[in-house]
Amino acid sequence: MFKWKKFLVTGALCALSVMTLVGCGGQQAAAPSSSSSSSGVATTIKVGSAVDFAPFEFQDEGQAEYQGFDMDLIRAIGKEMGAEVEIQNIGFDGLIPALQAKTVDVLISGMTINDERKQNVTFSDPYYQSGLTMVVRKDEQSIQKFQDLKGHKVAVQIGTTSANEVKKIEGVEVKEFNTPADCFMELKTGGADAVVNDRPVSEYFITKSGQTDVKELPDMLTAEDYGIAVAKDNKELADKINAALKTLKENGEYDKIYDKWFGGAKK
Ligand code: GLN
Repeated sequence: MFKWKKFLVTGALCALSVMTLVGCGGQQAAAPSSSSSSSGVATTIKVGSAVDFAPFEFQDEGQAEYQGFDMDLIRAIGKEMGAEVEIQNIGFDGLIPALQAKTVDVLISGMTINDERKQNVTFSDPYYQSGLTMVVRKDEQSIQKFQDLKGHKVAVQIGTTSANEVKKIEGVEVKEFNTPADCFMELKTGGADAVVNDRPVSEYFITKSGQTDVKELPDMLTAEDYGIAVAKDNKELADKINAALKTLKENGEYDKIYDKWFGGAKK
């Protein structure tokens, strides 16, 4: 819970100690690498996200704010922690390098928790259960199961679990693109026979943009959990994120955000 009293008292103390502003950050600091906002009251958490992954992170034309499930969740987490959240749009394969370079403190980007990434980052507790499915053209008959991808061209987003998994299937011509939108475009124009991507993203793409010439297949390749990533040595920040996540799950805020983006159809 955000404590207004503490917030106001801390704010007053900070105002009194303008000369020693640095000291104020410590009270509510989320992490050693975080910086104070100009008010000196709240800490700013710098968040990296690849904002091309609706309904988790995306930007509608003409809208300044990034929106989506992850965006709402990280803002709610920031609020719980008494911190400002500042989101930077970074290509998916540049996210972990940005975290390592300390350009950002946190990553939230529909990022699957896996052992390979755990060597470089610390993940929060899982916050969303996902998995990989295929999207093909409506008239496609020869692809039903993942093993049927053999001999076909498959579009995947670079640096993702989809790219990793499809490369494990023998005889597939893997075509890598920067965004899921580029992958779907390749499918529609016939440059690829299938797109492998995260199930909720493919479902949102098909339903929200009213796609009638493509279909999602029921076969699911993997079950995957999304996690929020912080620097490998920043367990302290991971603990704070986990505590905030737990509170949001307990007080119903997580469910509200979930229902907003997934219509209450919990999977
Ligand atoms: N969940 C997938 C992964 O972690 C894809 C994430 C994404 O493209 N934003 O690789």
